[in-house]
Amino acid sequence: MVTLVRAPNPSPMTLSGTNSYLIDCGDGHALVIDPGPSIASHVDTLLEAASAQSLTITAIAVTHWHPDHAPAAAPLAAMTGAPIYAHPASTIPHDRDLELERDLRIGQTALRAIDAPGHTFDHVIFHLARERALFTGDVILGEGSVVIAPPGGAMRPYQRTLQRLAEEFGEASVIYGGHGPIVTDAQAKIAEYIAHRRMREEEILAALAERAHTIPELVLRIYGPTPSPLRPAMARQILAHLIALEGEGRVAAEPTGRAMNAGEDTMLNPRIEEIVAPEEAAIITAELGSQLRIGALNRYRLNAAVSGELP
Ligand SMILES: [Zn+2]
Repeated sequence: MVTLVRAPNPSPMTLSGTNSYLIDCGDGHALVIDPGPSIASHVDTLLEAASAQSLTITAIAVTHWHPDHAPAAAPLAAMTGAPIYAHPASTIPHDRDLELERDLRIGQTALRAIDAPGHTFDHVIFHLARERALFTGDVILGEGSVVIAPPGGAMRPYQRTLQRLAEEFGEASVIYGGHGPIVTDAQAKIAEYIAHRRMREEEILAALAERAHTIPELVLRIYGPTPSPLRPAMARQILAHLIALEGEGRVAAEPTGRAMNAGEDTMLNPRIEEIVAPEEAAIITAELGSQLRIGALNRYRLNAAVSGELP
């Protein structure tokens, strides 16, 4: 049995809050996936959920290092003595490296730990075959889409991760994501996520086929002229696509040679810590990669060989 315990940290980035999961692994053992932010009442709620089912938390696993998913692992481990499992490349303090593409065995239960780079490079998805379930962290959410932002995130690895889920886990029917509701039509959700990224990239390529664009111009063109607090996230998504296309030689960047105006600067380099409280700022900064400042304003154009034009 899987119990969703939602953390009390709602925000635009975390939707209604971070989803922590308590899994009854048999023999009285429970595994917690993504203990969430370090909020004492949330840790208490996880402990109460376990004891209400006469379970002892004997293992803790995190999908990725982000500050809305991992920090409660330490206090929960201190209170239960349970070891913390994480991706071998994860920088968060943990007791045991997950063996990627192998089973994590707790009690009577085996969960496959799938290497799932893209949102971050330390992201793991857990496959619970017994329940035909995937615990997808921030790779797939219950609603909306995920921010893929450099330098921690990368678009092509993310798309390969989605593709892998579609090809290798076609029998999965439930998605327990890191935020939002539980998804009961897993395959349709995976297909929706794959199609969404393809559509966005086609929109970018169609704009560049007409003329060269800066990232702020692409944001306005693709997402529309209505101002939105999510514009910095939109800009970083587009940057992630452009980095992938540049790496493949399909798009080239050239400096505009002028300084950014104020609107361009707030879109490309949001000063999150001036807008929201420190804890939320840490989450947004991690999700957007906005510690990476974009200094020069580039213009992006299609490479002639790809667009079919003569140089
Ligand atoms: Zn995240």
